[in-house]
Amino acid sequence: MAELEGLEFGKSDFVLLDEVTMEQFMENLKLRFEKGRIYTYIGEVVVSVNPYRRMEIYGKDTIDAYRGRELYENPPHLYAVSDAAYKAMKRRAKDTCIVISGESGAGKTEASKYIMQYIAAITNPSQRAEVESVKNVLLKSNCVLEAFGNAKTNRNDNSSRFGKYMDINFNFNGEPTGGHINNYLLEKSRVVQQQNGERNFHSFYQLLRGGSDELLQSLHLQNDPAAFIYTKEGAATTSNNDRASHKAVMSALEVIGFSAEEINSIYQILASILLLGNLQFESDGESVQILGLEAVGHVSELTATEADSVRKSLLFRTVATGGGEVIEKGHTEQDTCCGRDAFVKALYERLFGWIVSRINSVIEVKDYDPVLHGKNTVIGVLDIYGFEIFDNNSFEQFCINYCNEKLQQLFIELILRQEQGEYQREGITWQHIDYFNNQIIVDLVEQPHKGIISILDEACLTVGKVTDTVCLESMDTKLAQHPHYTSRKVRTDHTKVLDFKKHFRIRHYAGDVTYSVEGFLEKNKDLLFQDFKRLMYNSANPVLKEMWPDGQLSITEVTKRPLTAATLFKNSIVALVDKLGCKEPYYVRCIKPNEMKSPVLFDDARCQHQVAYLGLMENVMVRRAGFAYRQHYARVLQRYKMTCEYTWPNHLMDSDREAVEAIVTQHGFQDDVAYGLTKLFVRTPRSLFTLEQERAA
Ligand code: ATP
Ligand code: MG
Repeated sequence: MAELEGLEFGKSDFVLLDEVTMEQFMENLKLRFEKGRIYTYIGEVVVSVNPYRRMEIYGKDTIDAYRGRELYENPPHLYAVSDAAYKAMKRRAKDTCIVISGESGAGKTEASKYIMQYIAAITNPSQRAEVESVKNVLLKSNCVLEAFGNAKTNRNDNSSRFGKYMDINFNFNGEPTGGHINNYLLEKSRVVQQQNGERNFHSFYQLLRGGSDELLQSLHLQNDPAAFIYTKEGAATTSNNDRASHKAVMSALEVIGFSAEEINSIYQILASILLLGNLQFESDGESVQILGLEAVGHVSELTATEADSVRKSLLFRTVATGGGEVIEKGHTEQDTCCGRDAFVKALYERLFGWIVSRINSVIEVKDYDPVLHGKNTVIGVLDIYGFEIFDNNSFEQFCINYCNEKLQQLFIELILRQEQGEYQREGITWQHIDYFNNQIIVDLVEQPHKGIISILDEACLTVGKVTDTVCLESMDTKLAQHPHYTSRKVRTDHTKVLDFKKHFRIRHYAGDVTYSVEGFLEKNKDLLFQDFKRLMYNSANPVLKEMWPDGQLSITEVTKRPLTAATLFKNSIVALVDKLGCKEPYYVRCIKPNEMKSPVLFDDARCQHQVAYLGLMENVMVRRAGFAYRQHYARVLQRYKMTCEYTWPNHLMDSDREAVEAIVTQHGFQDDVAYGLTKLFVRTPRSLFTLEQERAA
């Protein structure tokens, strides 16, 4: 809370603004960014602006300066909230979590890594080997997850294409004993297609550019991304150092404990995907042929399956007739291509999921006996996609934006709950504050029977030709009255003329988003022919087999429809929110200063938009409407005792609380404070300014 750095750097806490206006907020944010102060508080929330340059603020000296300190004793920093989360966990045996949000390129993943590095640096001073090894695996897992889950997009050269939630477990001593990673909705469509200027997942280029000749030969690959349909688009881009990353990932995999066979299987799967992508099909009107059967042979070799089974799975599907008979049905050329694409997407998704679960098996806490070892506590770190509004918004954006609604809901609930809880504990009366409650939007999406997901699922279950447009009509009818849903028939105020037949609009808490319904049903069904699953399950490679347990079922046994993609996603997000909801939350709100990745440009309009939809203004208001600051009496005394004749150099009163009362009274702001059981609560920053000025005088 102190202005430790002088006012030329702006206010280190937005709560200290003279007036809470957007203008003042933006002025302060910009000034601090320009002065190289990328972090600013709103109470305990850290607002971070991506500096797009190397900052000398993450070194060992800085870590030492923040270790064990209170938030206001140092300039704002990720390390301060990390320490706060750690202290709460250690001293009060509280499970805590750090939720990092912001749009693509805002700096979430970098922040999550600094947080983990900080926690690793301050724990295990005695360097116990087993703790060091847990920390090492946790840190190395980032490198592997980024290789397989990140890609260059037009917004971020190293964009996470999945959501990540990592729990770090601690023993009663505050040493990390293990962890667990949850991953959410990998953008698997990227495997088969990327937008202009974007790349496939890093892993492919790392293998092609960094793999040894020997390795590539054994995988039947050339060392040229331009030679493969799936990597051609991104082949020209050399912004990432793929060769060096390949080495780093290999060594990370080894450190984590992947065996040589497992690592080889990973590369065999990547190679199979690339080779499958290059297959061409030809139809003579009756049946479809694969051109160049040699590649099919290579795929069968790499996946340890029969070449003929690979060919058959690509060209035919097994169907059960009404009479219980099982027949083989030839695909059309289009079905063949779609089937193949669905197959490689699933291959990659399952590979990614398997890598995550393999890491989890290494870091999971084993043999922990709470009676013997005390309570096992957790710090969770969430790095998940932010709100997305593109020119063309599809099913993926719908899921991601729903996830953000859920997180916003949690933010509201926790921030208010936390405030309220603190006032109650300290015996202070508190007035409820109104806040836009986005529950109504959450309901619009997820409510059983009525919400958009239910309507989508219903359309997917309907037998016969239900098209995206028919589904949209059903939504339009059922949701016409909903204040946050706009039917395609109503003209939007967007300047662009849209094809109203295929769009719907949701008024999200962060702004209006128009979704194109095209492809919604297909993406929601997420169909994959059972033949592919069986093919993989029958692989002689145990790693592959393990990834495809559902391939066990024969076609006549596959009766139950699998859950749809939207429902699976919803379930995972509901579980995530439950997990976060029972922890003490800390927030990092990341802002992207410009679209050019420039370290000097502060794009006012873009930043203001983010400030608005992250709800930062409301956050400041909530914080100020209550008591903006609270601090233990001893701390207040220590910092300000020299400003009062009754407390300097020592006080003779019965308690620290009385001494603090003397300070407050001397400066005349007794109406601006409340005295809690253990803490002083200060309503406005004005009083603190006075104290700070007196202190500096
Ligand atoms: P996405 O949602 O696309 O995954 P993100 O929010 O995770 O985006 P990051 O990958 O963390 O964004 O950051 C994008 C880039 O910005 C980084 O690769 C790095 O170049 C730069 N950057 C972010 N934070 C920092 C920082 N604290 N210091 C220096 N550079 C940073
Ligand atoms: Mg990221």
